[in-house]
Amino acid sequence: MAEEADTGVSVRTERKALEKAKILQRESERRTFRLVGRVLKKPEAERSEEEAAVLLLHRETVEELCRRQVRSTVLKRKQEEVFDDADQLRSKVRQLADAVKHAKHLVVYTGAGISTAASIPDYRGPNGVWTQLQKGRTVSSSDLSKAEPTVTHMCIKMLHKETLVKHVVSQNCDGLHLRSGLSRQVLSELHGNMFIEVCTSCSPVREYVRLFDVTERTSLHRHGTGRRCSHCGSELRDTIVHFGERGTLEQPLNWKGAAEAANMADVILCLGSSLKVLKKYACLWSMNRPANRRPKLYIVNLQWTPKDDLAVLKINGKCDDVMRLLMEELSIQIPVYDRLEDPIFSLATPLLPEEDDSCTREVIAPPNGQEESLPDCRKQAEEATAVQGGWFGRGYRKGRKKKKAS
Ligand SMILES: [Zn+2]
Repeated sequence: MAEEADTGVSVRTERKALEKAKILQRESERRTFRLVGRVLKKPEAERSEEEAAVLLLHRETVEELCRRQVRSTVLKRKQEEVFDDADQLRSKVRQLADAVKHAKHLVVYTGAGISTAASIPDYRGPNGVWTQLQKGRTVSSSDLSKAEPTVTHMCIKMLHKETLVKHVVSQNCDGLHLRSGLSRQVLSELHGNMFIEVCTSCSPVREYVRLFDVTERTSLHRHGTGRRCSHCGSELRDTIVHFGERGTLEQPLNWKGAAEAANMADVILCLGSSLKVLKKYACLWSMNRPANRRPKLYIVNLQWTPKDDLAVLKINGKCDDVMRLLMEELSIQIPVYDRLEDPIFSLATPLLPEEDDSCTREVIAPPNGQEESLPDCRKQAEEATAVQGGWFGRGYRKGRKKKKAS
């Protein structure tokens, strides 16, 4: 009996000693890393003999720290915005114009970078939503409904009208392609549209286009907007696909159209997308074909993208600048956005009187200047600047933080 107890005690003591030794070792490793790191920061000529000896003694640590340094330099370089100078830009756009003219089936992929001129924050740019949230800052922005289609949106719409662009695949939820007048048949909004809510209980799915951001109450895995279908009474849901969700709605996602377009494409033009998300959608890239039979890739983006090495041409410029030059090369006039022709007003379903207070977001002002008759709650909302959630903010943060106990 006594012997058994002794064994128990000694096992415990042994385990404790082992744990202590491990802790001590980790501490000593950390000390070594700090020491070596300090020495490495000094220029070689300024290092004392002792310090040089430290480096010799801890060669593995030196190598590891150098590897880390390289990794962080590469990462920093990838986040930097690079601009081609005017001559470079002009000559690159000439090449792009040539490709656009001769393409049999040109498909355009767009990301947040094409909407920054409309004061919608992009995701991964220096002031992007993702970058800000990564740094633990809150995202504030002017009300997103104030945004209007940019030069790039209008150029794309025009290029489709001229039959030069066959399909547009967008990761943006801001609805600006639709509002530019681009036909919905040739548009795939892969991550949804912030102005559309749907009833999935109705068959076929019933769509309600609204004149305001429908996502103020929705977030990751919570898509109910609080309003109800006027036909069956079921709760409506937004169409947004958050990080980590799989989008299954036929419209406005239009995956079928996107996949068919990618399959037929001989040229793909990527505008203002970091491609970090798009690259994961295998069907967009024809990677199952040999490299010489894949569509030729043209990328316009200020930052590095994971497809840069596969691109025929990478243009480091702002989308609006590049598109203006492109249209000039093609001798096509850029149409000006006109609110009177914005299709959203004819597509929209007005709220029922009892639903009037179901939305606090600003409503897109109708072209005939009826904004004066907005309910008071919405006028107040116009003054609010911090956007709490919905299609980005809240949904994004829910995905990263553990849910608060409610
Ligand atoms: Zn319904």
